[in-house]
Amino acid sequence: MKNRYECYISIGSNMGDKEATIRKAIKMLAASDKIQLESVSSFYETPPWGKTDQPLFFNGALRVSTELEPMELLRVCQDIEQQLGRDRHTHWGPRTIDLDLLYIDGVEMDTPELTLPHKHMLDRAFVLVPLSEIAPGLRIKGKFIGEYLMRTRDKDDMLLIKRIRQRK
Ligand code: ATP
Ligand code: CA
Ligand code: CA
Repeated sequence: MKNRYECYISIGSNMGDKEATIRKAIKMLAASDKIQLESVSSFYETPPWGKTDQPLFFNGALRVSTELEPMELLRVCQDIEQQLGRDRHTHWGPRTIDLDLLYIDGVEMDTPELTLPHKHMLDRAFVLVPLSEIAPGLRIKGKFIGEYLMRTRDKDDMLLIKRIRQRK
């Protein structure tokens, strides 16, 4: 029997038709026969992080179950980014689509290609808000997502985060 992994993914866009691109990326992920889509958060409009002179983002979070190994899942995500026209020029700059692996149950690793849990996830309100919606009981390094959210330095960002589409 192959291992199955429970994986949380964050998805974001701040160029073009952001919501349509996010929906397309989710459909493409779910179309893979090795990936089962289990949960999708609401979509949120969020202020840009790190490099703030750029358009607002749309963000969401997903949970999938997969028999793919973490690096294989990352490749699938990067493939989808490519197909949807992701350019990689500016670090933290505008992008049509960004798919990051946040957390995979039972997996910890730290390589340049893949760090799990994601390096910045616990400091980013735009990640924690959608994630807390689909994973209120998830504990990372002994704490619930909601606890990280209460401690985040992104308090100003939190005031600006708007729920755009409610979870179905
Ligand atoms: P950030 O990682 O701070 O959110 P970013 O998403 O803008 O920044 P990218 O240009 O999309 O960064 O990715 C840079 C590299 O990060 C990728 O080539 C990828 O191999 C690596 N990487 C490391 N850990 C992860 C992870 N958990 N999820 C996605 N990519 C990762
Ligand atoms: Ca990212
Ligand atoms: Ca990324």
